[in-house]
Formats: sequence, C-alpha cells, structure tokens
Amino acid sequence: MTISHDVLVVGAGLAGQRAALQAFRSGVDVGVISKLHPLRSHSGAAQGGINAALDPKDSVKDHIYDTVKGSDYLADQDCVEILCKEAGPTVIEMEHMGTIFNRAPDGSLDRRAFGGASYNRTIYSADRTGLALLQGLYEEVGRDPRVRIYEEWDAIDLVVREGRVQGVVALQRKTGKIEGFAAKAVVIATGPAGRVYGKTTNSHESTGDGCSLAYRAGAYLKDMEFVQFHPTCLPHTSILITEGARGEGGILRNSKGERFMERYAPHFKELASRDVVSRAIVTEVKEGRGFPDGTVHLELMHLGKEKVESKLQEIVAYARTFAGIDPVVQGIPVFPAQHYMMGGVSTNSRAETNIPGLYAAGEAACVSVHGANRLGANSLLETLVYGKIAGQNAAEYAKKASASTLGPTDIDAATSVVHQILERKEGESPAKLRSELQSTMDELVGVYRHPDDLINAVTRVAQLKERYRSVVVADKSTVYNLNLMEAIELGHLLDLAEVIVTGALARTESRGAHVRTDYPKRDDAKWMKHTLAQITKEGPSISYLPVTVTEYQPKERAY
Ligand SMILES: Cc1cc2nc3c(=O)[nH]c(=O)nc-3n(C[C@H](O)[C@H](O)[C@H](O)COP(=O)(O)OP(=O)(O)OC[C@H]3O[C@@H](n4cnc5c(N)ncnc54)[C@H](O)[C@@H]3O)c2cc1C
Repeated sequence: MTISHDVLVVGAGLAGQRAALQAFRSGVDVGVISKLHPLRSHSGAAQGGINAALDPKDSVKDHIYDTVKGSDYLADQDCVEILCKEAGPTVIEMEHMGTIFNRAPDGSLDRRAFGGASYNRTIYSADRTGLALLQGLYEEVGRDPRVRIYEEWDAIDLVVREGRVQGVVALQRKTGKIEGFAAKAVVIATGPAGRVYGKTTNSHESTGDGCSLAYRAGAYLKDMEFVQFHPTCLPHTSILITEGARGEGGILRNSKGERFMERYAPHFKELASRDVVSRAIVTEVKEGRGFPDGTVHLELMHLGKEKVESKLQEIVAYARTFAGIDPVVQGIPVFPAQHYMMGGVSTNSRAETNIPGLYAAGEAACVSVHGANRLGANSLLETLVYGKIAGQNAAEYAKKASASTLGPTDIDAATSVVHQILERKEGESPAKLRSELQSTMDELVGVYRHPDDLINAVTRVAQLKERYRSVVVADKSTVYNLNLMEAIELGHLLDLAEVIVTGALARTESRGAHVRTDYPKRDDAKWMKHTLAQITKEGPSISYLPVTVTEYQPKERAY
C-alpha cells in the first residue's frame, strides 16, 4: 500500500512540526512521520533557552556578529542574518502559540546570559525551554485537522529517482509493517546524530537517520567534522548541565580552587563560547588540576538556594539524582561530552538540498548558521526559523511538481534489506558494534584531535562497517522490534561516523570545535570553506564550498 501526501515531513521535533505547520498553512496536504511520539523528540530536552535580540538596548546586528564570531567565521553570513532577523518575531509567535516563558519583574520576557553573547538575549522557560516550545507548537499543529502525524513510524529509505525526490519508505514499530509514503516534496527534520559518540547529551534516538538516508540518496552532507562538545556534563551519564547555569552566574573551579577560566577567556570567563570552555576543562584535567574523578566543579552555591532551586530546577534534580550531590551546597562535577552536530544535510538559505524536492531543517541540516561552533540557544531558534522556511518552500515546490512515482518496487527494495537483517542467523549484535563505534569516537575524535588517532579512527570505522554487513538481531518478531531498529540505526551511525572522520582528517587546521594538535592555528587562506561529502562506492568523496561573507571579515577570535 502507498500513502500519499504533497509534502512529507520526516521528524516531529521543533523543526519538523514548524515545517509541517508552514506547509499546510501554504495550502498543501501534509503528512509527518516520526519514530517517536512528537513530544518525546530531543527538542523537549533543551534546557537553557532561545536567543532573540528583543531588548531595545540589544541589536540584531550584535546577534549576527556574535554568531559569526562564535562560528569561527565558517557560518554563511547571509543565512545568519535571516536567523537573527527572524528571532524576535519567532519568539513572539511561539509565545502566542502558548509557550510560557519566564518574565522579568516589569512583565517583559526575562533574559539570561549565555555563552559567546555580548548581551543577555536568551529567552527561557526555567531550564526546560525545549519542552515549553515543543508543547506550544504541538498544540498549534494539533488544532489543524489537515495535518496527519504518523507516530512510531521509522523512515528506512528515501527514494530519489528521475532527478527528484519521490517519497519515503517507512516501517511501523507497532506492527513491523513496511509502507511507501509517496510525496512531491520531503523535508528531513530528523534531528541530532549524537549517538555516534558514547559520551553524549543526546537522547538514545538521536541517531542521525535522516542525514544518512539523504546521503545514501545522493545529498551532500556539509561540515560533518565539526562536532560540539558541551563543557558541563555530569560524569558517567553525560547528562547536560545547561549553560544557563553559568548564565545565572555559575563559576568553574579546578581542584586547586582556581577560577581557571580567567586565564583562558579573561573577558567572558565561563561564558566564552563552548569550544573555548571545553578545551579549557580538558586542559585543566590533563595537566593535573582536575579532581580525582577527572572533572572540574561548576559552583552555584554563591547564587543562593532560592535562585538555584527556582531557575535551575531540572539540573538541581539531575545533580541530586545522578551525581549524588546537592548543588545548593556543593560544586557539581562536570566534564565535556558530545552535544551537537554543526554539520548535516547541506542546504542553502531556502532549506533546499542539491536534490530537487528534498529539503532539510533543524539539527539534521547544515545551512550553515553555526559554522565551526554553535552558540548556545541558537539551535532552538534555527529549528523554528529554518523549519518554517523549509515548510514554505517545500509546499511551493509541491504545488508545481507532478505526482510521485513511488511504487511497489521501491517498497520491495527497502523490505528486502530489512528481511536480510531479520533472517540472518550468525553475526555480531548491534549493541556490540555500536559500543565499539562509540568508544572509537570518544577516544579518537574528541575535543583535541591527534593525526594518528584520526588515521586510526578511519581504519576502525571502516572495519566496523565491514563487520556490520553481518549484523544479527536476536529478536525476530515484528511487534516493537527495537533490536531491529537498533540495527538499522547503527547503519546510519556508521555512515555518519565515516564522514566525520574523513572530513576531520582532511581538514588540516584548527577552527571552532575542530582542533588538530598538529595544526593548532586557523588557516583562512586554505580552509575558509565548507566541507561537502557525497557518497561513492569507495566511501565519502570530499569537495569544498566557499563561505558566504557579507559584512564580517575573519579576525582573531578572543573572549
Ligand atoms: C540535552 C540538550 C539540551 C539542549 N539545550 C538547548 C538549548 O537550551 N537551546 C538551544 O538552542 N538548543 C539546545 N539544544 C539543541 C537543540 O535542542 C536541538 O538541536 C534541536 O532541538 C533539534 O531539533 P530538531 O527538530 O532538529 O530534532 P529533534 O527534536 O531531535 O526531532 C527529531 C525528530 O525526528 C524523528 N526521527 C528521527 N529519525 C527518524 C526516522 N528514521 N523516521 C521517522 N522519524 C524520525 C524523531 O522521532 C523526532 O520527532 C539542546 C540539545 C540537547 C541534546
């Protein structure tokens, strides 16, 4: 059977739902497929806030400049301009949809400080901003009967034929049924791929499915070597302690009691950009100034019980439950963990990919507005601004496009791949291969990148890809076979890991979150360009794309 929509959105996080809302407001028929219930999307885990230069003393221009500087000059400045100009209207629109933000005593939207920002412009809902936004948007989408959400359906294939997108093949978790979703235009909004790493703040479902499906179908992936490590995560679990904690005045200390950020970023200190703070923490621990458990401490004690417990409720609970410490009276042990992929499916400022009819938005996409390092609280903003743009343009495309030709042969092709995995009797489990992949990435492709480690990582990922050809699942049933889904997701993680390590080895400079120990300096003459990866039988083929510079010429970045 084939289901048919004008526009099909894959993913129901903030980017996907915003795209869907815009597409049906543009008058086309829209379907959304999501492997999770929409409110379980990773967007709901976002804590700290969303940036918008709403205060009259702030300016959109400063937001643009901070973002470009934060990106280490790799962001496309025309795209950043759209992001920052749309920020104010976007936040107000979300408020009107029902998101409840914290208020200042004068009744205006309250703002907190965030990393790399020259002004306090982060609007927030305590430390659960993502959930507040997601709920508001979900209710708005739910008010319109024209949008159809297919929950707990996993896209397993993206069909591109006759020079354009034709739709998606998806598997229903509840039944194991595989069906075709014909569409004139498809929006990839499948979110993060953090599970390429073991130590990550990302949810278990953040496996980069849409990026890999688009890549396999011929789309370019852009700047995948730029992986953000969030400086403050709990040891062992890698649970995030929001930058909002430092925004509220939290400070970092090493085991000698030194406020060490004064040495690394004399002006911004703890609120320097994330790449800078992560490197500082790793250096402190490596040089013997960490605590015995290999962490530094984030101190909130001086802020007082009332402020900590009201503005940072979630992280207080995380610290008490998962680290066994009370942040009201003790420092929180923290260390960097993978947090965000700056790279993704390459799009232009209209959210178009290189495949006609294929659009992408949110963390799965790379526009690029974050360049080599994303500023905190710019990602929620990007999901909404570029989600809307993707939905709009996908709808316009669908209005002019002829019907999709997705049919039984496409469904059979995807089904046979799934059946091969299910019927295989001997091989290795997805859990084993995944944990080897994750430890490879944790150990060899981290905050600092050594050339020998990268070469080693390329070999190990290639070997894992080979071993994956005989991945075997113990569960052979069709009902909620999460073992099968794990195996499919692992295929995505391996594809993306290969692109990350290939791009990282090729880029012989240090920029933003990509730091090579053998090339410690940024090299604008040679490397002020985006990496593009396209699939070939031999692996990723790398090419480069110029960065769009409008106003801000690169200069040395200091915080
Ligand atoms: C712990 C944490 C805290 C964060 N805090 C902040 C913050 O304070 N401010 C900020 O700006 N950013 C923050 N970020 C980043 C930001 O939250 C994310 O980048 C953003 O929410 C991603 O939204 P998305 O819509 O692209 O993806 P998601 O919200 O992850 O949605 C992805 C969707 O795709 C669906 N999907 C995935 N694969 C498939 C498939 N194969 N088939 C069908 N559906 C599929 C999922 O079901 C889901 O609905 C945080 C991130 C994390 C992990």
